[in-house]
Amino acid sequence: MSFDDLLDANRKFAESFSLKGFDGIAKAGVALVTCMDSRIDPLGMLGLKPGDAKIFRNPGGRVTEAALEALVLGVYLLNVDRILVIPHTRCAMTSQTEDELHEKISGLAGTNVAWQRFHVIDDQRRTLLGDLEKVRSHPLIGDRAEVGGFIYDVDTGLLNPV
Ligand SMILES: [Zn+2]
Repeated sequence: MSFDDLLDANRKFAESFSLKGFDGIAKAGVALVTCMDSRIDPLGMLGLKPGDAKIFRNPGGRVTEAALEALVLGVYLLNVDRILVIPHTRCAMTSQTEDELHEKISGLAGTNVAWQRFHVIDDQRRTLLGDLEKVRSHPLIGDRAEVGGFIYDVDTGLLNPV
């Protein structure tokens, strides 16, 4: 295993690099929290390009403490005034229980991994509503950004408002 292919690609990328001197704000004023799932193209699905948005990803697209830290920085320092929270259909975090995931990974690891939490999601819609409330009621975010929740359909590419 090595990184050679990626570093080769990086040198090609740098040949036409166009963000030199850019200060790293969200040019379109957008921040999004979404899942790490490789079926999701966070910029492409919103018609955005590099430089337009701050993107925070984790398994399930959850509003965690770290996500809130990122969103506070976004609204105060990085031009963010619209926040989207975007979990998706057929997410691995919604299709199995914590026990099932532990069993599966323990089997693969050859050791009991019950100590590793994965924060699986029982009810995606209810979890999203709770996550949206966490953002809207945050004392440093609430008034400064519009907050929207959407479920991304990995089979159609469409965002469905919640
Ligand atoms: Zn997912």
